[in-house]
Amino acid sequence: MEDQQTTAVSPEQAADDELRARLREMLEGGLQTEVEPRAYDHETIQAVVARLQRLAPDDYENKLKIAGFTLEPWQGADDIEQACETCMYYVVHRRFCELPELMLPVEPEWSCRLWRI
Ligand code: SF4
Repeated sequence: MEDQQTTAVSPEQAADDELRARLREMLEGGLQTEVEPRAYDHETIQAVVARLQRLAPDDYENKLKIAGFTLEPWQGADDIEQACETCMYYVVHRRFCELPELMLPVEPEWSCRLWRI
């Protein structure tokens, strides 16, 4: 029993784990996401963000599509690898994307076109 208590996950962590698994399932299932054009300039960023803002917070499929999620790092034209773990919105201890329009549990090697360093 003591062992179970020490390894218990918090409700927040359990919810994150469950949703992260659902997102992975969608991506592995072949969900087509808008990986390009990348959101490098202000205009494109604003356009992508505006579309995300129109979604319900739990419209996960469209969040993944519009943000252009991939299960692997994106290789930028400048040779910089774009992955959640190097993105300014990534919360390391929670494996979570804190971009207000996304707010999703992710994995360090995942990526999206709103990646920022
Ligand atoms: S904004 Fe950054 S942390 Fe969030 S999903 Fe995209 S690459 Fe990952």
